[in-house]
Amino acid sequence: MAEVVLRDVAKTYPNGFKAVKGIDLTIKEGEFMVFVGPSGCAKSTTLRMIAGLEEISGGDILIGDKRVNDLPPKDRGIAMVFQNYALYPHMSVYDNMAFGLRQQKLDKHDIDSRIREAAETLEISHLLENKPGEMSGGQRQRVALGRAMVRKPDVFLFDEPLSNLDAKLRVSTRVSIAQLHNDLKAEGQTATMIYVTHDQVEAMTLGDRICVLNQGTIMQVDTPMNLYRYP
Ligand code: ADP
Ligand code: ADP
Repeated sequence: MAEVVLRDVAKTYPNGFKAVKGIDLTIKEGEFMVFVGPSGCAKSTTLRMIAGLEEISGGDILIGDKRVNDLPPKDRGIAMVFQNYALYPHMSVYDNMAFGLRQQKLDKHDIDSRIREAAETLEISHLLENKPGEMSGGQRQRVALGRAMVRKPDVFLFDEPLSNLDAKLRVSTRVSIAQLHNDLKAEGQTATMIYVTHDQVEAMTLGDRICVLNQGTIMQVDTPMNLYRYP
């Protein structure tokens, strides 16, 4: 469980390009925050700084009172879902989902029950022995979601997770992500979700609040209702 706070966060790339120009934002514990905006507005850079995948050039990012940079990756309580799934191609679905948990040295039975529970929720139980190359894009993205879920993170980060899927799968996977958020809430696990997309339908249907970015600054932060009904 964790609030995520961005305080005057800036990013200048090594070539001198100022991609993020001082962002202030508090994402409440359990909130579903969507970053939306045109390609190049710095959605991905911002998400990657929260994940600790990209160095912060100025300001601070706090996850539950701790500065991101002071936390080793395994202690950040974060799981990220990528556009291109980022699964290990030579490993079975089961091993892909188990990988991070084995590294954390979790008990074998605990790992097994977490995987089976997540697989059931995501309707991929029959695929546990398959390799990613034998599955559709939608199935692969469910596996990537499952791999994030089993870690029971405080914060889920999503980087355009639906953009490689065809229209039908995009809808069903979007519904799965919304359901995941609701299920976790119902179980009392208030995971914070931060979701990057350039798609307004995704932003409207998933977000508790939407943060509209343009050229590295925040234009507006509000509920979907306020943003799109009373622009
Ligand atoms: P978005 O995710 O909104 O499409 P990005 O965060 O990927 O935007 O990129 C924001 C801006 O920073 C873009 O103008 C992009 O070209 C630039 N950018 C991204 N990565 C680098 C980099 N490694 N070096 C220089 N500029 C970069
Ligand atoms: P995305 O799908 O998030 O928009 P891109 O395809 O734009 O990502 O970028 C892929 C990779 O290239 C990222 O690691 C990003 O940091 C890097 N990159 C993007 N724009 C630039 C740039 N102008 N200069 C250098 N690297 C860049």
